[in-house]
Amino acid sequence: MQKIPWRSGETNFIRSLTATVDVDKLLAMEGGGKGRRPDGRVMELYNDICREAIALAQPAFACAYHDLVAIEEDRLSLQGGKILTSRFLAAKLAPAQGILVMLATIGPRLEARVKEYQERGDALAAYLLDMAGSALVESVYYSGFQQLELEAAAAGLEATTPFGPGHSYWDNLADQEVIFSLVDAGSLGMMLTDTYLMLPRKSISGISGVGRGFTVAEYHCHYCHLRCTCPLSKARRAVTGK
Ligand code: SF4
Repeated sequence: MQKIPWRSGETNFIRSLTATVDVDKLLAMEGGGKGRRPDGRVMELYNDICREAIALAQPAFACAYHDLVAIEEDRLSLQGGKILTSRFLAAKLAPAQGILVMLATIGPRLEARVKEYQERGDALAAYLLDMAGSALVESVYYSGFQQLELEAAAAGLEATTPFGPGHSYWDNLADQEVIFSLVDAGSLGMMLTDTYLMLPRKSISGISGVGRGFTVAEYHCHYCHLRCTCPLSKARRAVTGK
C-alpha cells in the first residue's frame, strides 16, 4: 500500500489559484460554432464582462483527505463513522484507500453584481456575467484538483476524476451535508441551505478516490444521462479544453 501524502481529516487550503475566463470560453459555453466572433460592440461587451468577472472573483479551494474504512455494495465508510451512500461510487471507487473531499468557490461578489444587472434590466450582461462565473469556478476547481493529482502521482497514487452531488449519477443530494462535515467549508465562507444549495452560488463540491487500479472514465459527465449537454459540462470543457 502506498503512503498517502496528506494527513487524514486535515483541511488544506489553496488560495493562490488564478481563475481566468475569456471570450472564447464564453462562446464555447454558448455552444457557438468554431470561428464564430461577435461583431464590434458585442465583442466589446464580452471582453468587458470577462474583465469584470475576473476582478470580482475571489478564488478559493479547500481539500481534506479521509481514509476509507470499508467500501461495501452501496456505501463508503470513512474513518470517524461518516458514510456516503452510493452504489455508483462504491463500484467506481472500489480500489480506493481514501477520498479527497474538495470545495471550490469564487465568493459572493460576482453573483451580487449579476443581481444588480438583473434589477437594472440588463439581462444580457447578467446572463454573460453569470456564465463567466461558472467558467471561473470550474477553473478554480480543476486547478486545485490538478495540484492534488500531481501530489498523488508523486506518491505513486492515482486520483480519480472528481464526482459531485447534484449530478445525475449521484443519488442522494443530502450527501452534501456529509461532504460539508468532512472539510472546513466555513473558512472558505461557504455554507449549505436547507435544500442543500451551496452558498455562495458559484461554488463546487466533490470527491475523488485515491489509490491504484481504478477503471474510471476521464470525466464524470461520461456517467451522466445529460452527457455533456448541460451548461456546467460546457463550462468544464471550455476551461479544460477537453
Ligand atoms: S453533464 Fe456533467 S456537468 Fe452536466 S450534470 Fe451531467 S455530470 Fe454534471
